[in-house]
This record gives sequence, structure tokens and C-alpha cells, in this order.
Amino acid sequence: MTDVIPYSKQVIDDDDKLAVLQVLDSPFLTQGPEVPAFERAIADMHEMPHGIAVSNATAGLHIACLALKVGVGDLVWTSPISFVASANCARYCGATVDFVDIDPATRNMSVAALREKLEAGRRKGVLPKVVIPVDFSGLPCDMAEIRSLADDYGFAIVSDASHAVGASYRGGPIGSLADITVFSFHPVKIITTGEGGLCLTADEKLAERLQLLRSHGVTRDEKLMQGESEGGWYYEQVALGFNYRLTDMAAALGRAQLKKHANHAAARERLATRYDKLLSPLPLKLPARLPDRQSAHHLYVIELQEGGAQERLALFDHLRDRGIGANVHYIPIHLQPDFRRLGFEPGDFPHAERYYDRAVTIPLYPTLTDDEQDFVVSCLASWLG
Ligand SMILES: *Cc1c(COP(=O)(O)O)cnc(C)c1O
Repeated sequence: MTDVIPYSKQVIDDDDKLAVLQVLDSPFLTQGPEVPAFERAIADMHEMPHGIAVSNATAGLHIACLALKVGVGDLVWTSPISFVASANCARYCGATVDFVDIDPATRNMSVAALREKLEAGRRKGVLPKVVIPVDFSGLPCDMAEIRSLADDYGFAIVSDASHAVGASYRGGPIGSLADITVFSFHPVKIITTGEGGLCLTADEKLAERLQLLRSHGVTRDEKLMQGESEGGWYYEQVALGFNYRLTDMAAALGRAQLKKHANHAAARERLATRYDKLLSPLPLKLPARLPDRQSAHHLYVIELQEGGAQERLALFDHLRDRGIGANVHYIPIHLQPDFRRLGFEPGDFPHAERYYDRAVTIPLYPTLTDDEQDFVVSCLASWLG
């Protein structure tokens, strides 16, 4: 019996462990020097001025919506092929969520579908305040086109780049075209802090608001106070915020992980290219490769070209029975019972539903060996052959 090969997993080395232990011996376990250093490192890596670390990406998406003034009566659109957090963040603010169907080639939000929905929305007078495209599997969205639609229709962009730390688009790192870009550092993602996330923005005012919202809406900065400081102890709550802070242990782990990121990204690229080649003779649809962008390769998702949900279930079981931790990303969000309750139905987003019926995520992470990968490929070939 083979050991289970998971679909994804973290890589932790001695340097990571030491970084965390050093914080445990320091005076600050939270709100110390590690968080700003980690924020600076992630922001620099993406050539952005501001990074605001948070306790997880879901918290980051929540305060991104709040910083953009999303509230009751507002509309937020996202992709149905994502983790539920991409949509829940808007519901936390009391906004109404809707979805834009995916482009079957990239599995990201379709720009054509977005444009059509915006045109229809303008006629009906229902336009979104915020659109949340998702860089699914680490492949950047068509952000230049989405930016130009945002400028035309007056919505803000929150990029859910949970899968896409370090990805690039049209010659530069992702992040510059969205109002706020959100990363996740959950253990299965590109780098990890245990739980953790971060918001990138180029806008100083948005950065200020995000900082306030992640820490109770409380400030010690006199520029942001309504009154005057009454002494060295003084702080003011100037907005209703949350405790969405990252700890210094987590930030130190994140910074140690970043040192290995370039090597790990190269390993993911090599393994993805190897899958592309080894799987090309099989009747499978493979992840898109686009010349103007570099995926972070968080997930490697194959789609059956022959058959649908029944065959997908059989293939999934075939892989699991052989110790391969196949998975499915994602059940379309609008089909979740808690979204069906809001009025969504099967058939609403046909490309997303068709994709879901045929998709299987196969293992991809930096320490996956060629032998393990060959085993995955041979199990796929025996089932498909
Ligand atoms: C993982 C993930 C999230 C949530 O991230 P957390 O850090 O676990 O809160 C949000 N969106 C997408 C697309 C994700 O994959």
C-alpha cells in the first residue's frame, strides 16, 4: 500500500522552525517587529507600497470589502469557482452577492461574461460596487481588461489572489491593477504562516483603513484621531474594527518561508511542465498556459474530456484507492445550500457547473518527487486507457 500523496502540503525546514523559536524567546509574540518586516517583504516582492498582514485571507477579504465601503444594499460579484470565502466576505458586510461565470479555458472569471453582465446591469441600474476576481489555481486573471471595465463602470477590484503569491502578469508581479489584492498563507497555499493572510494596496488611504479595521478600529496615530491625545497611554477607536491581527510567530514563519519561495516556485513550475508533457496523450483537459502570465501553480486540475460527474467520481475513487489524495476544487459556490437559500439554482452558471462535473485536482507541491508524479500519471493512464 502506497503512502498517501496529498494534493498539496506545506514544506517546513529547520530554518523555519528556528525563526519561530526565536520569536518565542523575544519580548513580543504579537505586535512586535516581525509583522511589519513580513508585510514589507511581501509588498516588495510584488512591487507594491503597502502590505497589511491579517489573521487569514477570509479576514483580509472582509476588511477589503469594508475599506471599500461595501454595505447593505451594495452588490458584489465574484467567481462561482472559488472557495466560499470569496463570496462570504461580501455577505459579512450585508451586501448582496452575485456571480460571473467562468471562462472554461482558464477557469477564471470570464471577461466576456463580466462585460455582458455589466451592460445588462447598466440598463437595469444594478451595478456592482466591488468585483472579486479569483486567480484560480494561481493563474492570474485578465486584470488589464477587468481594470478597464472597472474604470468604465465605476466598481472597485478586490483580487482574491489566495492561490497566486508570486505570480506575474504582463511582465510584472500581480497586484498593481486591483484596488486591493488578498493572499492566503494557509498550509496548502504557496507559502504558509499556519493561518494568515495579507492585503496589498497602492492606495495610502485604503492602507490606513485596512490597518484600522484589522485592529479594533483603534489608532495611536494623532493624525487619525478626532480629539487630542491626553497622554502617552491614549488611543482612540475611530471606526468599528476587528481583531484580525497576525502573530509575530506566524509572521516570522512567513518570512522564513519567503527565502525558499523562488526555489519552491521553480519546483512547482518544473512539476507542472512535467505533468503537461506526461498527461498530454491522455483524453484530459489540462491547465491553460498563457504567454502573458506566469501561474503560481497552487493547484493542478485536470478535466475529463469524455464523460461527466459519474466518470469523475469513479476516477476520483480510483485515485484515492491507490493512496493519491485527489481532490475537487471547487463545488460551485452558488450550489451550496446556504447560497441556494438566497435564490441561486443549478443552471445559473453553466460553464462553472460543467467544469465542476469533470474536474479533479491531482498532487502538486514543491517536494513531490518524480517517482510519485510518475505513479499519479500511471494511475490516471490505467483508468483512462
Ligand atoms: C484559501 C482560500 C481563501 C481563504 O483563505 P484563508 O486564509 O483560509 O482564510 C479564500 N479564497 C480562496 C480562493 C482560497 O483558496
